[in-house]
Amino acid sequence: MSGCDPMAPLLAVDGLCVDYGLKGANLRAVDNVSFELRAGEAVALVGESGSGKTTTAMAIAGLLSPNAVVGGGEVRYRGRRLPIEDDAAMRPHRWKETSVVFQGAMNALNPVHRILKQIAEPCMLHGMTQAEGLARARELLELVGIPADRGSAYPHQLSGGMRQRVMIAMALACRPSIVIGDEPTTALDVINQAQVLKLLVELRSKLNLALLLITHDLSVVAETCDRVMIMYAGRLVEDGTVAEIFAEPKHPYTRLLIESIPDMTKGEKILRPISGDPPTLLKRPFGCAFHPRCPSAMRICATKAPALGRSGYGRVACHLYSALEQVERAPVHV
Ligand code: SF4
Repeated sequence: MSGCDPMAPLLAVDGLCVDYGLKGANLRAVDNVSFELRAGEAVALVGESGSGKTTTAMAIAGLLSPNAVVGGGEVRYRGRRLPIEDDAAMRPHRWKETSVVFQGAMNALNPVHRILKQIAEPCMLHGMTQAEGLARARELLELVGIPADRGSAYPHQLSGGMRQRVMIAMALACRPSIVIGDEPTTALDVINQAQVLKLLVELRSKLNLALLLITHDLSVVAETCDRVMIMYAGRLVEDGTVAEIFAEPKHPYTRLLIESIPDMTKGEKILRPISGDPPTLLKRPFGCAFHPRCPSAMRICATKAPALGRSGYGRVACHLYSALEQVERAPVHV
């Protein structure tokens, strides 16, 4: 692909900001988010509802809703800047280089079209003939564990797990190198969830896919990902390898998220929720957005937002570690 740098990271997100126009104001939903994704790597983006994880993913795919605008920063694919603010200009990139598996396949699939036709559609958008597209769709159904002759079914004739497999087949149609999974197993029961996750892990290794997994479920992260990034109130607050973050979380929010899951090996059965509610877009606390809920909050936390600094294994944004080398400019309140 022209303009690509073979030495550049597969995906680089650099200072990405996204604003929503709401009640006459521009509200910042994603604030100065930067990270890289390498070929074949699986990275999770984790946070509560409203943390900005899905908005970040949709911005990368150029699929922001009409009331959202890119407020700053850029996204590069193999060193080439992507026109993420322009839906039409993103069409040659979408499906072919980056694709998305959406949550809730019943809503994402067209109920009046047979699934084979729906899988073939992105192939035809990217230059295949109808016959080639349908042949590729049959091949993809087999790849995701659905017999090709089920391609004549309509979405409502398939189980929830099969529909989600169809979504994965569609995402792979044009052989992308990045797949974004937006809570791809949230709407499934635990058995189907385990099967779909297993399929994603197998396909990732078979096709050397880079996976950006959006989730609020840390058990899914532990099973599928190499690295994890934690978001809170639109900002990245910690990242690192899954092994290190689970063993030694630094940010108080990450620690509470991990502690909220009952440890079955110790016979624990009770969930420990984090007290308080995540902030809304309309009302973001000044200083560190987590300070009203943080058991370690200090006076400075209510007045100054911490910048992201290097931790031993990754990055963390917390005044408890303010002596760490900063890797971003201090955040500005909008
Ligand atoms: Fe808690 Fe302060 Fe760290 Fe925020 S900056 S997470 S309030 S200790």
